[in-house]
Amino acid sequence: MPGGRAAWQDLRMDPFEDTLRRLREAFSSGLTRPAEFRAAQLKALGCFLRDNRQLLEQALEQDLRKSAAESEISEIAMAQGEIDLALRNLRAWMKDEKVSKNLATQLDSAFIHKEPFGLVLIIAPWNYPLNLTLVPLVGALAAGNCVVLKPSEISQSTERVLAEVLPRYLDQSCFAVVLGGPEETGRLLEHKFDYIMFTGSPRVGKIVMAAASKHLTPVTLELGGKNPCYVDNDCDPQTVANRVAFFRYFNTGQTCVAPDYVLCSPETQERLLPALQNAITRFYGEDPKSSPNLGRIINEKHFQRLRGLLDCGRVAIGGQSDESERYIGPRPCRLFPRTPRAWSPGSLVPIRGPSPGLSRPCARAAPTVLVDVQDTEPVMQEEIFGPILPIMNVRGLDEAIDVISRQEKPLALYAFSNSSQVVKQVLARTSSGGFCGNDGFMHMTLTSLPLGGVGASGMGSYHGKFSFDTFSHHRACLLCRPGMEKIYSIRYPPYTPRRLRMLLMALEPRSCTLL
Ligand code: NAD
Repeated sequence: MPGGRAAWQDLRMDPFEDTLRRLREAFSSGLTRPAEFRAAQLKALGCFLRDNRQLLEQALEQDLRKSAAESEISEIAMAQGEIDLALRNLRAWMKDEKVSKNLATQLDSAFIHKEPFGLVLIIAPWNYPLNLTLVPLVGALAAGNCVVLKPSEISQSTERVLAEVLPRYLDQSCFAVVLGGPEETGRLLEHKFDYIMFTGSPRVGKIVMAAASKHLTPVTLELGGKNPCYVDNDCDPQTVANRVAFFRYFNTGQTCVAPDYVLCSPETQERLLPALQNAITRFYGEDPKSSPNLGRIINEKHFQRLRGLLDCGRVAIGGQSDESERYIGPRPCRLFPRTPRAWSPGSLVPIRGPSPGLSRPCARAAPTVLVDVQDTEPVMQEEIFGPILPIMNVRGLDEAIDVISRQEKPLALYAFSNSSQVVKQVLARTSSGGFCGNDGFMHMTLTSLPLGGVGASGMGSYHGKFSFDTFSHHRACLLCRPGMEKIYSIRYPPYTPRRLRMLLMALEPRSCTLL
């Protein structure tokens, strides 16, 4: 593999050491702490998005055949929105938070101080390759950290823009992009970071957490899973079908919070099917494979995996299996040459050969609905992550909740009903990272809500101020007076019964407003 990974390994035993040392030194110097520096980095990130909009849209189109509209809605605008919010609120978020005090600390000053962790590692997946790198980056920079960003090697065009263009905008003494797949990321994870944010599959999440545990590094894990979607008999089928289809097939179903499967009665299924067909035809035309609004399956491996899932239940809508229709030829990469780059010592942009995913045809699959699905079948056992929507029949709400409760806790859960009581019951009797009644993943467009999983769908959360808090250590601070020893001395032995009573009273947790 000339100039490729082998050369990268031979040239240096540890290609990350120099860069990580540089970032650590920058952090120790205090460079990233002032609000002015953080704001300058955030503004520079905004400039990167504005100056390179076309380049980014092209990269997303090459990676996922994403339409410009979907790229704008789900990648660029979301990242820009987070930057704007952080810039507007940075000083308020950074402010020490005063807290309530007990009687014993009335003369003191008690507050939570948000301090940066230090060196943060952000590892991202391929499905929203810009959003899922930049949105966490906004939080990490706003919180005053130095950052190593590891985009997905699978969304290769976006990865290259991030590696080659983004560092020109940010202060390189405290920011670096690292490229690589499982092997390189594994080596990177041997190093000590002060915080790791990982977005990806539960399988790799376990690897990241195990590596982090060796250094006792705290982690946020944004993972995936199966997001149930309960549809009650009391509903308008066309409205439900529009909303479920839109959120299921957005980004060709490759969305961690997409509704993964529908649970409904056989009667509701009969009303939903024509409505789903109607929605799919209106959104993507009579021939979805030629729709500019339907992207591609990221690579052949995922395409084959999804094709295997079509054997479950019965195909009610879509599901064409003509391979020549599903595949389209690869387009030449317009942004960057395909040849591996040369190793430049000191650079953290190592070298890989062309991605196997890109050298093969990209796969395209029709929006599909499966019925007569059993919960023991693979389509009900694994995260689908593609344009397939299985419908599983249940007798009613109780059985739906049983099915949901047998699965791992999902990242998102949806319930559709004209009855708010039914929606509230689903909410009250289940657990999930997020919940949306009568719609798809709109809850994650709100920066006022945290995005994160629970149980197997992840730990920790981010978006908006939650990102700032995630990447900040909340330091408990109490500043006491150097004098007034008479008052402070009620704490000291010898303990008389009276003193003990006074002390216990003074230590009682309460919100005291004497001073
Ligand atoms: P993945 O876990 O395969 O890869 C994610 C990242 O981990 C990539 O950067 C990859 O290079 C790296 N990686 C892969 N194998 C590794 C290993 N053995 N050691 C160290 N690093 C390794 O995930 P993916 O296929 O890129 O993304 C799809 C998954 O991500 C789905 O499960 C989806 O639900 C999940 N996801 C979750 C969210 C969320 O917000 N919770 C968002 C998007 C995607």
